[in-house]
Order: sequence, then structure tokens, then C-alpha cells
Amino acid sequence: MLKQIAILGSTGSVGRNALRVIDALGPQYQIIALSAHSNVLLLAEQARRYKPGFVAVTNADYAEQLGELLGDQDIEILAGPDSLIEIAELEDVDIVLTAVVGAAGLPAVLAAARSGKQLAIANKEPFVIAGDLLIGEAKRNGGTILPVDSEHSAIFQAMQSGNPEEVNKIILTASGGPFRKASAEDIRNVTLEQALSHPVWDMGPKITIDSATMMNKAFEIIEARWLFDMPVEKIEVLIHPESIVHSLVEFVDGSVIAQLGEPDMCLPIQYALTYPARVAGIAKRLRLEEISKLTFERPNLETFRALSLGFEVARTGGTAAVVFNAANEAAVEEFLAGRIKFVNIVELIEHCLNKHNVKTTVSLEELLEADAWARREVTELAYSV
Ligand code: NDP
Ligand code: MG
Repeated sequence: MLKQIAILGSTGSVGRNALRVIDALGPQYQIIALSAHSNVLLLAEQARRYKPGFVAVTNADYAEQLGELLGDQDIEILAGPDSLIEIAELEDVDIVLTAVVGAAGLPAVLAAARSGKQLAIANKEPFVIAGDLLIGEAKRNGGTILPVDSEHSAIFQAMQSGNPEEVNKIILTASGGPFRKASAEDIRNVTLEQALSHPVWDMGPKITIDSATMMNKAFEIIEARWLFDMPVEKIEVLIHPESIVHSLVEFVDGSVIAQLGEPDMCLPIQYALTYPARVAGIAKRLRLEEISKLTFERPNLETFRALSLGFEVARTGGTAAVVFNAANEAAVEEFLAGRIKFVNIVELIEHCLNKHNVKTTVSLEELLEADAWARREVTELAYSV
């Protein structure tokens, strides 16, 4: 059966991998829409190759350039942040793969859920900000949510071995990033270059920094909490530097079911597109005899304060999670621009969490207000650190 796909964020790391996966899946997978924020050169190249009906550029300043690049093509060009909502709601689209970075993906993810689409979600920040709202919209409108994040894809696969009420706990694995062995003191002198060199995964800059602070794992706790409707008490994090065991589920009888594979996003991307079917694909095959050893250790919560905050925020929910995400997005931006130090990222996040008065039951407007407040707070403070 023909599957028609929209990729939000096709020029990013996940987006480019998704196109490679779709190439290999063959002609029954068709691209209906693609999007970028500002990289219109790559977007135009992708559009010429995949001939979608629609392309969207969320930064409207680049719309004119995109129009010139695609002037000879029969492709509708959409521009501005809301263009993502338009493509997520397109009648012809069956699957919306969301691979944009940050909270910017939230309105489109909600629109896709509301339209009852199959959602393949890499963009984890919307889960952090509004996980309950998102899951609720999908349920009410007959939408399916399939995780692309490798840990959550692993858990989703392992969950198929039992019923949700038979789960004793979820064990999220983490590579530990480049500073796994660092002391709290070492972390104080980290450079941008060191923070951007992840030992295992090749990803976009924002999630690479999130992995170095372990904010990424903190977000994944919240993502798992909503995706699998699990109380935070049943979620654990284990450091696994080889990144072969992508996560595990322990059932009440003591059986632990894990999903293993090479660290290669093509596999979870493909599974989210072909589910419930499994087909041969391009992901590198696992040869355990070549790896020979898999190791696991408890995370150091003193070095990685982000992880303790993640558990706390996951328990509190409401606007705490919004502030947690927004403060991080703003602080990572400041760090990438060279205006603050690596340690300041988590310090600024903690400052915002301490200053914020949490509301637990809130509307989307209130969530967005808390988001804007945290960003302003970090930007102002970044000048004084
Ligand atoms: P990248 O930075 O590589 O790509 C981000 C994509 O989003 C690009 O297409 C970019 O366009 C677009 N984009 C950037 N800013 C905006 C904006 N304000 N509005 C709309 N679109 C925007 O990110 P990744 O592919 O690494 O990550 C994407 C998401 O997937 C993140 O949420 C990340 O946490 C998650 N994820 C990523 C994994 C990975 O392996 N990379 C693994 C698991 C989850 P342009 O190119 O024009 O800037
Ligand atoms: Mg992950």
C-alpha cells in the first residue's frame, strides 16, 4: 500500500537519514512535503530529487531565494513557522515525520496528532513541553505516535513482549557523552569543540550539546513518561558507553527484554515508517563478536546535575517541564554562540527552575508564556555570567 510522507526538518541529521531510508524502502513510500528553516540550497536539491508537492521554509527571509531555486519546478512553496502546520495537515499525507529541532516543532506535531495522522516523532522537545496534550490529541483523533528516538524505539519494541501493567521498570540507556569520566571540576573547563564531539552518535549541534550535559537523557525520561504512560518511579537511567543496547524493559516476572543494534538512526527511523512490518533496510548489521564486550554503570549524578533535575521535573510536570526545556534551548544557543561556558548551561536552567512558580494544570497559552519567560531570563542572565 502506498505511504505518503511529510518530513518536517528534512535538511537536518535525522531528516537526511530519513531520506536515505525512504530511498531504500522503494516506490511505495512517497515524499509529499519537505521542510527546512534556512538551508534552502539543500532543501531545493532535495525537492528536485524527490519532487514533493510542497516545500516549506520556516524562516520566511529565505522564501524568495527558495522560489528562485525552484522556479522551474511544479512545487508549491510555503513560508513562515505556520507552514509546518499546513504540511502536517495535508489531506494526502499519511505519515508525518517530525525531525525539526526544539519547541518550534510543537504546533505542527499537535496539528498532525489532531488530524489523526501517523506521527513518527524524532523531535522530542514537544513531548517535554506538552506530552500529555500531544498523547491526548492523538488518542482522541485516532492518530498513532511512533517514536524515532532510538531509546524509545527500543522500549516500544520491548513492550511488545508483555502488557503495560506487567512492566516493572523501563531502563533508558545513555552513552554518557564525551564527559562520562569527567569530574565536576573537569566539566568547568570544557570547550565548545570538546562538547561538540560525541563519542558515538553523529547528530545535529543542539542534541549533541544536550548529550554532553545529559539534558538529552533528562528529556528522554519525560518523553518515556508520556509515550509509555509510566510513572517516573518506574524509569531508570543506566550508562552504556557502547550504545548497542538501546534500552530495556523489565517485566514483573524478572524478564528483561532489550533491543540491540549498531548506533545508527536509520533503524529506528525505518521502524517508525514501516511499523508494524519489518523489512530489510540500510542500517548496519550488528556483529556482537566484533564488539565482544558490553558495559553498564550507574550515572554520576553529581557530575550530571541535569539528570537529577530531569527526574525532579518529570515528577513535577506542568510548567516546570516547559521552563526546563526553554531555558535549555536558550542556554545552548548562548553556548554555541560562545557567550557562556558549558557549566553555565545547567546553572542557568536550575536558576530558572528555582525562580519559577510552577503551575501543574495549564492551557497551551500558559505553557507558551512560561516558555517565553524562561528564554528571556536566560538571555538576560547570559550577559552577566
Ligand atoms: P538538526 O539540527 O540536524 O536539524 C534540525 C532541522 O530542523 C533542520 O532541518 C533545520 O533546518 C530545522 N530547523 C531548525 N530550526 C528550526 C525552526 N526554528 N523551525 C523549524 N525548523 C527548524 O537536528 P537533528 O536532526 O539532530 O535533531 C532533530 C530532532 O530530533 C531534535 O529534536 C533532536 O533532539 C531529535 N533527535 C535527533 C537524533 C539524531 O540522531 N540527530 C536522535 C534522536 C532524537 P535548517 O537545516 O535549515 O537549519
Ligand atoms: Mg535518544
